[in-house]
Amino acid sequence: MGKPTGFIEYKRKKQTYRDPLERVGDWDEFVIPLSDEVLQKQGARCMDCGIPFCHTGLPMGGPAASGCPLNNLIPEWNDLVYRDHWKDALDRLHKTNNFPEFTGRVCPAPCEGSCVLGINTDPVTIKTIESEIVDRGFREGWILPEPPPVRTGKKVAVVGSGPSGLACAAQLNRAGHWVTVYERADRIGGLLMYGIPNMKLDKRHVVERRINLMATEGVRFVTNTEIGKDLSAAQLRDECDAIVICTGSTKPRDLPIEGRNLKGVHFAMDFLRANTKSLLDSGHADGQYISARDKHVIVIGGGDTGTDCVGTSMRHGCKSLVQFEILERPPDTRLPNNPWPEWPRVYKLDYGQDEAKARFGDDPRTYLINTSKFVGDENGVVKALHTTNVEWVPTPGGPPFRSVPGTEKVWPADLVLLAMGFLGPESPVLDQLGVEKDPRSNAKAEYGKFATNVPGVFTAGDARRGQSLVVWAIHEGRSAARECDRYLMGSTDLP
Ligand SMILES: Cc1cc2nc3c(=O)[nH]c(=O)nc-3n(C[C@H](O)[C@H](O)[C@H](O)COP(=O)(O)OP(=O)(O)OC[C@H]3O[C@@H](n4cnc5c(N)ncnc54)[C@H](O)[C@@H]3O)c2cc1C
Ligand code: SF4
Repeated sequence: MGKPTGFIEYKRKKQTYRDPLERVGDWDEFVIPLSDEVLQKQGARCMDCGIPFCHTGLPMGGPAASGCPLNNLIPEWNDLVYRDHWKDALDRLHKTNNFPEFTGRVCPAPCEGSCVLGINTDPVTIKTIESEIVDRGFREGWILPEPPPVRTGKKVAVVGSGPSGLACAAQLNRAGHWVTVYERADRIGGLLMYGIPNMKLDKRHVVERRINLMATEGVRFVTNTEIGKDLSAAQLRDECDAIVICTGSTKPRDLPIEGRNLKGVHFAMDFLRANTKSLLDSGHADGQYISARDKHVIVIGGGDTGTDCVGTSMRHGCKSLVQFEILERPPDTRLPNNPWPEWPRVYKLDYGQDEAKARFGDDPRTYLINTSKFVGDENGVVKALHTTNVEWVPTPGGPPFRSVPGTEKVWPADLVLLAMGFLGPESPVLDQLGVEKDPRSNAKAEYGKFATNVPGVFTAGDARRGQSLVVWAIHEGRSAARECDRYLMGSTDLP
C-alpha cells in the first residue's frame, strides 16, 4: 500500500484552476498540474483498503454505479506513484483504460465518491493522479505506438468516432483486426472533439495526439462520411466482417413552446460544435460560429452541456448570463438517502459557473424554474423569455411538476441555448441495418454482450445506453470489442 500513515499525515490536494477572470480570456486548458512530489504524497493517502470500493463500477443501492466503471486498478497505481514508479503506474493504468488523458480531464470521478477515506474525510485525489500519470507518460516519451504483431485478416467497421468508437477500435486493432472508423464530422473524436470545449480538453495536444497514435498503430480513420447517407449500411456490411455502432445519443431534447422558432434560440450542440470548429479552423477568424458577445445569454439546462455553454459564452464576452435548472438546488452535503459509496448528489460550482460568478458576482444558476414562452422583436429575433417557478408534485396526465401561481417573470435574452439532454441515437443507420431499438429508442443490445439482433452487428456507448459519460463510453467500447473479437475468432483474449 501507499504510506500506512499517509492518510493521517497528508491533507487532500487536487489540481487547481487558473484564475477565472484570467482564463476566460483564452481557450487553453484551465487546470494547473501538481508537482510530482505533491502527487506522491497524495498517492500515499491511499489506504489500499481490504475491499477497495473505488474501482468497483457496480450499482450499490443507488441509481448510478459506484466507483470507476473501467475498474481502474486505483490502489495499485496510487502505491506506484507514492513509490516513484511512474512508468509502472502508467502500465497499470493502460491495462484498464485506453485513454486516461481523457478521463483524467473530464471524468466526474465516481471513484472518489466511493473512496473509503471519503466516509469521514476527504477522498484520495484519484482523478488528478490519473491525469498526471498519463501526462507524464507522454512527456517522458513512454507512450509509443504498439501495432499488433500479427494481423487476422478480418475487417471491422466502427461507426462513430467518440470515446466508445475509439476505445472499441483501439482494442480490436490490438487483437489484430483491420479496423476502419467512419465519422460524419470533419474531425475524429465525437463529443471529445466537438462537444466538450477546448479549455476542458485540448483538441490538438490531447485528443488528436491519441488519434494520431492510433492511426500509426494501424487504425484507419475516414471522416466526412455518414453511414446510411454517404455510404449505405448494406455496402458497409458487404465490405467487412463485423460492424460496431458507436453513433452516440445525438437527438437533442427540444422545448416546443411559443417562440421556439425565433432567431437566437439554438440547441447547445449547434453552439458548441460551431465554436470549436471555428476555433480549430481559424482561431475564430472565419466568424463561422454563434457568438455570445455582448449578448444577454440564457442557458436552459443545468448539466455538463449547459456548463460548457456557460464557459463558452463567458469566453465570447457575453453581457449577462443566466442558467435555468428545473430541478431543485442539490444539498451541500450528502442526504441520508444518498449515502457513501453512492455518487454524491451534492451542490458543485463547476468551472463555467465559477467563471460567471467571478465576472457577474453570483452563481448563474436559477433552480426550480420553467420557461413558458420566448418573445421576439419585429425582426423575429428573440428578445425575452417568460418563466414561472415550479414545484415538484405529480399532476394527472402531465409533467411531474406544476407552475407556482404568481411567480411569472420576464428575462431579457438575445441568445438562448437549449441544453436539456438527448433522446437517443439517430435512426437511419440502425434502420438500414435492421437493428432493433429499446423502448427509449436506443440501439438494443444486452449489457455485457453488446450484440444487436443482427448477427455481426454490435453497439456501444451512448447509442446503446443513452446519454452518459466518457468513462462509460470507453468501458462499453472496450467490452463490445471483446464480444466482437469473440464473434470473429470463436474466442477472445481481450479483457
Ligand atoms: C457538451 C457535452 C459535454 C459533455 N461533457 C462531459 C464531461 O465533461 N465528462 C463526461 O464524462 N461526459 C461528458 N459528456 C458526455 C460524453 O461526451 C458522452 O457520454 C460520450 O462522448 C459518448 O461517447 P460515444 O462514443 O458513445 O458517442 P459520441 O461521443 O457522441 O460520438 C458519436 C459519434 O458518432 C458520429 N456519428 C453519428 N452517426 C453517424 C453515422 N451515421 N455515420 C458516421 N458517424 C456518425 C457522430 O458524429 C459522433 O462523432 C458531455 C456531453 C456533451 C454533449
Ligand atoms: S476513469 Fe473516472 S472513475 Fe475511473 S479512476 Fe479515472 S476519474 Fe475515477
